[in-house]
Amino acid sequence: MNFAHRIAVANRKIHAGADFHWYRFEAVGPDAVVMMGCVSSGLHTRGRHKGRPKYDGPPQTVVVLNAEAAAEQERYEQVVGRCGECLGEGRVSAGYRDGTLWPICPVCAGAVVSRDREPAAKTQRQ
Ligand SMILES: [Zn+2]
Repeated sequence: MNFAHRIAVANRKIHAGADFHWYRFEAVGPDAVVMMGCVSSGLHTRGRHKGRPKYDGPPQTVVVLNAEAAAEQERYEQVVGRCGECLGEGRVSAGYRDGTLWPICPVCAGAVVSRDREPAAKTQRQ
């Protein structure tokens, strides 16, 4: 599941603005993630965090259930009409998922359509 959907749910729960940043994610139990974030006063202008937001506002915490994040991914695919895993990019960041490296989106295989829609590449097969 793309983490963007979990962040979208969390943003909605606390009505986060553009200057709000999530900086900490902790799994709790098998089906939920506790997310911590704060409003940032701006970006670091020097040092090793240069260009990153300062996490200097009062911290806020929300819990996002896996089911809520999954529902948001479904909603995204329905409304936006793109693959909810790679957000229509056809690629996911090169991180490990279940021990496998996926430079190409494992859900749509780069076809850049949602699972509910017929991928163009497959319909061309005779
Ligand atoms: Zn995809």
